[in-house]
Amino acid sequence: MKAHDGLYIEGAWRPAESRDVIEVVNPVDEQVVGRVPAGGALDVDTAVRAARAALPGWAATPPAERAARLGALRDVLTARKDEIAETVGTELGAPLKFSQAVHVGMPIAVAGSYAELAAAHPFEEKVGNSTVHQEPVGVVGAITPWNYPLHQIVAKVAPALAAGCTVVLKPAEDTPLTAQLFAEAVHEAGVPAGVFNLVTGLGPIAGQALAEHPGVDLVSFTGSTAVGRQIGATAGAAVKKVALELGGKSANVILPSADLARAVNVGVANVMSNSGQTCSAWTRMLVHADQYEEAVELAAAAAAKYGDRIGPVVSAKQQARVRGYIEKGVAEGARLVAGGPESPREKGYFVSPTVFADVTPEMTIAQEEIFGPVLSILRYEDTEDALRIANGTVYGLAGAVWAGDESEAVAFARRMDTGQVDINGGRFNPLAPFGGYKQSGVGRELGTHGLAEYLQTKSLQF
Ligand code: NAP
Ligand code: MG
Repeated sequence: MKAHDGLYIEGAWRPAESRDVIEVVNPVDEQVVGRVPAGGALDVDTAVRAARAALPGWAATPPAERAARLGALRDVLTARKDEIAETVGTELGAPLKFSQAVHVGMPIAVAGSYAELAAAHPFEEKVGNSTVHQEPVGVVGAITPWNYPLHQIVAKVAPALAAGCTVVLKPAEDTPLTAQLFAEAVHEAGVPAGVFNLVTGLGPIAGQALAEHPGVDLVSFTGSTAVGRQIGATAGAAVKKVALELGGKSANVILPSADLARAVNVGVANVMSNSGQTCSAWTRMLVHADQYEEAVELAAAAAAKYGDRIGPVVSAKQQARVRGYIEKGVAEGARLVAGGPESPREKGYFVSPTVFADVTPEMTIAQEEIFGPVLSILRYEDTEDALRIANGTVYGLAGAVWAGDESEAVAFARRMDTGQVDINGGRFNPLAPFGGYKQSGVGRELGTHGLAEYLQTKSLQF
């Protein structure tokens, strides 16, 4: 695997001040596949200065030209799609087919959407005797997780560049090679020097330095609620803008009139996809008491079919964490109907697709985010009970509702405290706002709502 031994700052790969390195590990076979610099506070400072110096020029670049660069970025990503799929496959462990379809397909779609939005967005509007200008917020500090390595980067960098902001990115330590590939693509797309900068490094060092840097105007973070809370507090103290995409514990509500087999099968696939490392995964399946045992059987059979087809989780640490949750589920009295805590292979950070029945709402596995291929099935007595359970966590990122009649599903979805709900298996929409209610976050990504996060308004009165 190709790895740069520098940081991408001001349009060039340059050596880090810090001597520390990150070893990138392939979670399938536990082999080291590359080494990248672990940047420190000095490196972050250099990158932020570069981004600040590039800001006036990029902010003044006509939106049509910014759109052209984003279009070029989409084209470079498309041209290099096999390389991206392979890189994500190597450092995340994602199976190649999934990597091609989702880890590559989704960011290309999002980059394309911002090429169009940048060209079409009304950056100026008339309100009575005022002209309201939408101007870039400034220098963005972007901090991303490893679960969808390229998507998480593009979902921040593309709207930021479309808005006229400049960026310093600190990607997850587990997936820095995808971030380096992205930096190459930005360069090839002709984005001017300093507009996008990459500092690979560790969260508590480079990440924290970026979040605290006085030269950063907006911190956009995706990751755990624990770190997000800390970043929000730091930003609040500095009266700095912040966008937080945090954890989830989403409910898949199957109403009695639904096509049960379809709802269960799609629900299991949703949880097992990306080895359960999807913040919006429907990790709690809610089934009416009368259909409960049938649903449990269907889910166990569906999970067993996944067997060897899912990849590992990202790291040994994550594997231990997920197994800890499975053991806790057993200890708290949930009924294991598929999978379990034992690793299905000798090598690699694999976890068996796992399904728990007889999960009650207060159990740890029904409340906390596991971030592995683990589904909990809960029983409800009536619609009000289902709603109480669905809304009964600190999170509110996503969810699903299934019913025989679409309007019945919509009525239920409107009462859920959550940012996105798929109705009867509705498809992912890269233009729909994505983000959380409650402790799942602050702000929205994707589409025009995602663009708005990177803009601030100025009103001129006449
Ligand atoms: P994490 O530890 O919060 O890491 C996310 C990013 O923040 C990484 O780049 C990390 O660096 C960095 N970071 C860690 N500590 C930091 C600090 N003190 N200051 C600044 N940055 C810091 O999360 P993770 O364990 O990598 O990812 C899994 C979690 O992310 C799950 O809880 C999941 O729900 C959440 N997630 C949410 C979404 C969403 O859209 N809502 C999407 C994906 C993931 P290192 O890599 O060096 O730790
Ligand atoms: Mg971490």
